[in-house]
Amino acid sequence: MGEREQEFVKEAFETNWIAPVGPHLEAFEQEFCQVTGASYAAAVSSGTAALHLALKLIGIGYGDEVICSTLTFAASANPITYLGAKPVFIDSDRTSWNMNPDLLREALEQRDRIGKLPKAVVLVHLYGQCADIDPIMKVCDQYGIPLIEDAAEALGATYKGRTPGTFGKFGIYSFNGNKIITTSGGGMLVCDDRELIAKAKFLATQARDPAPYYQHSEIGYNYRLSNVLAGIGRGQLLVLNDRVAARRRNYEVYSSALGKLPGVAFMPEASYGNCTRWLTCLTIDPEIFGADTEQIRIALAKQQIETRPVWKPLHLQPVFAECECVGGEVAEDLFARGLCLPSGSNLTDADLERVIDAILSVYSPSKSS
Ligand SMILES: *Cc1c(COP(=O)(O)O)cnc(C)c1O
Repeated sequence: MGEREQEFVKEAFETNWIAPVGPHLEAFEQEFCQVTGASYAAAVSSGTAALHLALKLIGIGYGDEVICSTLTFAASANPITYLGAKPVFIDSDRTSWNMNPDLLREALEQRDRIGKLPKAVVLVHLYGQCADIDPIMKVCDQYGIPLIEDAAEALGATYKGRTPGTFGKFGIYSFNGNKIITTSGGGMLVCDDRELIAKAKFLATQARDPAPYYQHSEIGYNYRLSNVLAGIGRGQLLVLNDRVAARRRNYEVYSSALGKLPGVAFMPEASYGNCTRWLTCLTIDPEIFGADTEQIRIALAKQQIETRPVWKPLHLQPVFAECECVGGEVAEDLFARGLCLPSGSNLTDADLERVIDAILSVYSPSKSS
């Protein structure tokens, strides 16, 4: 937390706005728009809820296909299935680790030929790095397919100077406890269309018709963020730049200590933007490094240092076993050889040094010769 969150929460208590409405909620949405350049925003209970609403507002329904990045967290695809639709996964490219625009174009061309275009594309900006949005938007526009940007990990990043999440039809963000900024749990949906955001708020509050009694003509959800948590969010927005700087600094320290080590490569930073380095991720070439990522993970765990493999691609998940994937080898390779290092914005120099020393102690290039 920064310095102001508690004040905002106290204000909510003192004014007794302990509800999913109140002045903090509207202020948080407005301030979020100022920070990101989004036109309209709806604060909701999670990033997953925001994505569910975006898909619902586009009109995704039973049997539809929705394209999604394969290298991501399950929450990027789960809401597709909430609506009875089917995800179709697309592999990453090596330069950004994000959706490969050429594979997306191939997938759309092929589906266009058989007259079965997907109803939406969910584009993930992984680990705080933007996907190459322009070519992806271009091919989506060409086929009239709405783009949803999953910027849950990328608040504070830039793509050609602008905030990811503000390019597509909808953008979603997460304020879960592990994200760049947090409200303990929460999310934001953004869009250029005032009516659609109004509709999102309507659906997020149980879809009550304007009547003095409770009347419903549509199925709604209980997805609104509470006024108390929005207060935390207002405080967190004030420290967003600091949090991004702290995460980028983790990366700088790690990469200057380990980046030249044979067999080690950090996630590349694409030239078109600024990555938040939400997590610092690297890949290991086990032949050269003398240990694989699992051996490194276990060695570090013995010293109470938690690392995790890069996201297991969704097309390899048991729950999505029946879904199609276009390509997949790049994401599979990044999963096999990728490791996420401790990356919190509160890590001290001593913490970073301890992680670096632990990794250096596993490094054993002679074993491979
Ligand atoms: C965290 C995350 C989500 C979901 O956000 P929640 O607020 O936890 O529901 C969606 N997509 C990605 C890529 C995420 O990292």
